[in-house]
Amino acid sequence: MQPILVHDSRSGELQPLQPRDPGRVGIYACGPTVYSRIHIGNARPFVVFSLLKRFLTHEGFQTTLVINVTDVNDKIYDAARAQDRPSEALAGEMTALYFADTDALGLGRPDHEPLASETMGSIIAYIAALIEKDHAYESGGDVYFDVHSDADYGTLSHRRLDDMDQGEDGLDFHPPTDRKRDPLDFALWKAHKPGEDTSWPSPWGPGRPGWHIECSAMAEDALGVGFDIHGGGSDLLFPHHENEAAQTRAARGRELARIWMHNGMIQSTGEKMAKSVGNIAPLHEVIGQYGRDAVVMYLASGHYRQPLAFSQAALEQAKANVSRIREVGRRLSRGDSPTDLDRLRDTFFDALARDFNTPQAFAVLNEWIREAASPMYGDAPGDSHLREMLDVLGLESLLAAPAQAPADVEELASRRELARAERDFAAADRLRDEIAALGWEVRDGPAGCELLPL
Ligand SMILES: [Zn+2]
Repeated sequence: MQPILVHDSRSGELQPLQPRDPGRVGIYACGPTVYSRIHIGNARPFVVFSLLKRFLTHEGFQTTLVINVTDVNDKIYDAARAQDRPSEALAGEMTALYFADTDALGLGRPDHEPLASETMGSIIAYIAALIEKDHAYESGGDVYFDVHSDADYGTLSHRRLDDMDQGEDGLDFHPPTDRKRDPLDFALWKAHKPGEDTSWPSPWGPGRPGWHIECSAMAEDALGVGFDIHGGGSDLLFPHHENEAAQTRAARGRELARIWMHNGMIQSTGEKMAKSVGNIAPLHEVIGQYGRDAVVMYLASGHYRQPLAFSQAALEQAKANVSRIREVGRRLSRGDSPTDLDRLRDTFFDALARDFNTPQAFAVLNEWIREAASPMYGDAPGDSHLREMLDVLGLESLLAAPAQAPADVEELASRRELARAERDFAAADRLRDEIAALGWEVRDGPAGCELLPL
């Protein structure tokens, strides 16, 4: 088995993946805060870590992927208040839509999808352990983490305490600074406030948890301490992940994760996309416009650590790539690929083993396609390599057998065959248009005519 290298944000270097439990890899990625439907930017970590799981499974690891749902959070209270509806109802509806929208990506579900609202017992026990160990203190019904009690605070995001701002103060419904010993301390528990329509009982009075402790508790419940890869968007590095790491170090005396893996942001080019603008384009609208194959292709086409431009041109390009590969698949036969092409298949997986370099992997896949078209491999070489590569990229659907045309389309196609036999080409062209209007392309080949979905 080749070594798998992943960029670790803490060390700033590529680290070999050396699982805590040999042969098994645990991945926790921060999921969405459910206050609105998810946008294309939220889909990126979902796709990156779902594909990473596919790759690690291909490499022989038993891989567990956990992506949480943050359903207790300031943003949810704010959005519910703005819509004059209960926060639980809003979070419940948006959670269901998040599942539906990510189902439409066709990548399957993560192994565990914990909800913060269903993890309250573990969250409260975590906070109690931090108070017990003098890393946290209660103040006016709130509980804060004492950042000065953690000597390694700042080592994940490479920030000095002087340059930090938790982003908690001065906003509505955030705790007032005077409850904190230090402005850099961050909230583990927030006392119930007027205007918040949910609260949970705790040893410090009714309230609700801070965002960061929710993730430490959900990750530990699913994977234990010291699991292999903690993922999420690069915008979460500070304060969210720095605080998660500090909490676990303080409460458990060990690091939460061995490798911290961050995906770059989707960058809006400012043009109008789908029905919305740029980064806020809802995922379901983008899938509706371009199809799931093109959306997965687009998200896998950039290196996960780099920003990815979101533009109509990029999605059109992905759509064209999808059609091209689907077309190539039709010229292959089901079965073993030529052994001469093994080296390209191996190079594809080498690219993924070196910091999950999907653009490089796609370049190798394209080279495989070019070489497989060589006459030396006959009319229809076997597709097994391409199938193996596309499966890891979540694009195995490109090799699916074309769907069977419905009876009315078949009927039009036979009438067209007849018209052609009678050399009535005007009628044949009209029938071709009728078939196209029903969503099918009729293609004439040496073996007769074929119907393909448009
Ligand atoms: Zn998180």
